[in-house]
Amino acid sequence: MADEITTTPPAPPEAAAERKPAAPKVKTRKPKQRACDERDPKGKLCAGHLKRWYDYPREIEQLVGKGAEIYRCEFCKVLYRPDPKQQPNSYTIRY
Ligand SMILES: [Zn+2]
Repeated sequence: MADEITTTPPAPPEAAAERKPAAPKVKTRKPKQRACDERDPKGKLCAGHLKRWYDYPREIEQLVGKGAEIYRCEFCKVLYRPDPKQQPNSYTIRY
């Protein structure tokens, strides 16, 4: 991962003080995707690690289905459904 030369200093993390129960963003993983491809308002790639999320709360369960395979970005918390074309029998990373 090459660091890009940038002239803008790193901005402090914005306080995510959202209290309204907005539905979380759910994306679908691209084949072999392991890092978040969300971009912040400044266009910076999130690149957070997508981790399998097992004990999600009820509102997430209603969103993705009970017992669904779901991943979550460690940084921006965007949810990812597994790639529908990728068989879930070959992953070796377990937490
Ligand atoms: Zn992310």
